[in-house]
Amino acid sequence: MSQPIYILGPCAAESREQVLACAQQLVESTPQMIFRAGVWKPRTNPHSFQGAGAVALDWLREVKDTYGIPVATEVATTEHLKLAKAAGIDYLWIGARTSADPIAVQELANELDGNETILIKNPTNEDTALWLGNIHRIEATGARVMAIHRGCNHRPCWRMAYDLRQARPDIPLLLDPSHLSGDSEQVLPLCQKAMELGLDGVMVEIHPQPKEALSDSQQQITPKEWRRVAETTTMYHVQSTKLSWLRSMIDEEDDAIWEAIARRMAVAREIGEYKKNCGMEVIQPQRFEEILQKRLQKSSVNPETIRAIMAAIHEESIRQQK
Ligand code: PEP
Ligand code: MN
Repeated sequence: MSQPIYILGPCAAESREQVLACAQQLVESTPQMIFRAGVWKPRTNPHSFQGAGAVALDWLREVKDTYGIPVATEVATTEHLKLAKAAGIDYLWIGARTSADPIAVQELANELDGNETILIKNPTNEDTALWLGNIHRIEATGARVMAIHRGCNHRPCWRMAYDLRQARPDIPLLLDPSHLSGDSEQVLPLCQKAMELGLDGVMVEIHPQPKEALSDSQQQITPKEWRRVAETTTMYHVQSTKLSWLRSMIDEEDDAIWEAIARRMAVAREIGEYKKNCGMEVIQPQRFEEILQKRLQKSSVNPETIRAIMAAIHEESIRQQK
């Protein structure tokens, strides 16, 4: 079985020292790696750290020259692309936000000469056709592509990853557990999952001091923690079956069901508070009947099952309201 592809490094290049220290520690445990660091960061809040900018390309170049490993960064505009290529960056990735915008992806594609390798993250919305469309836009230039599954809203979308794998079994598919979960504790189990699903590698955010990181501090792990992840996951690298994909999808649906139930109970508690303030009774039988009838009309599930599930949910809601 071939060696997984490891793309490792900080969310953002913050300083020359941080970049070089991170690369040095990673090379010790994982000599066959691609070093990543964001130079321009697409951030939600305009007041948060936006990346060091073009100067950080020199730091990546130094990593490449000092350690003899390929380096990668995100490009979101044609200006980024030109600067990154001129600096000798080996791999360029299209981030999830850019991937949601076909005009931006086409503009990037128009600047390629076909000798590049472009990593394409899934768009922020669950849209396999858009992800595949981006792959086609880049491939039409002659460039090679790899796909990276990074989930949506800190959740996996295993169906989207599976559909992409089915549509394009010929291109490497990697997992980004850091952005998928937003949680450093999830990096190890998700790397194991990537190997169980037979994915081709992982892109993981690693920072020498995650707590001090200027972006995504909750999801970054240390180089030492990475060493343990790499040792553990290699053992689990197995041939995937359709059943393992389907089970991942079921687990994801169960997570969604239980999160929805928890949110429903939170609303029920607010209703309980409201009723108390108005001196209303907690139990309103005609309201439950209304909810039940609506569900019986809308759902294709067996009516007896609907009644049983709704009764259990209602009972718990009443308990929470009291
Ligand atoms: C990143 O990898 O640094 C990044 C911003 O990822 P995404 O586009 O998946 O959010
Ligand atoms: Mn990040």
